[in-house]
Amino acid sequence: MVSSEYERRIAARFALFDQDGNGYIDRLDFSGAAKAVLAEFGTAARSDKGQALYGGAEAFWQGMAGIADRDGDQRITREEFVNGAVKRLRDNPDRFAEIARPFLHAALAVADADGDGSATVEDTARVLRSLGVPEDAARAAAGTLDTDSDGRIGEAEIISAFARYFTVPE
Ligand code: CA
Ligand code: CA
Repeated sequence: MVSSEYERRIAARFALFDQDGNGYIDRLDFSGAAKAVLAEFGTAARSDKGQALYGGAEAFWQGMAGIADRDGDQRITREEFVNGAVKRLRDNPDRFAEIARPFLHAALAVADADGDGSATVEDTARVLRSLGVPEDAARAAAGTLDTDSDGRIGEAEIISAFARYFTVPE
């Protein structure tokens, strides 16, 4: 028995990956996410941080495709997402962290204005907003990431929160 709450949460996660909203997840959604984050922070695509983010987005796409694109058409449909990605990542959250890490690491570097290895709550919310998360939800999510309330968010916090978010219990 699958609850409607579960379905709703899965739909929200699919929508976050399907950045261009065309009904399936493909490479363009990941490069589009990189582009959106760079635009938000005024970071050039050709800069080291820009190239790292595009590289991380490609690695993230390849990892997701390897898990979920069962028919190999370079698209992850909603059905493939639910039956492939969601179930397999729930069974193995560490694998998901591994797939997402280069992208999240690079996104944090873009948001980390002073280069101390962490981003402010506000800048983390900007990353989420640039990926299409509504303002209120982005602020709330960024706030809860700051578990020790020092106003800054580090890579380990981001990766574990991201893995938790996508490994939805049924
Ligand atoms: Ca898409
Ligand atoms: Ca497919």
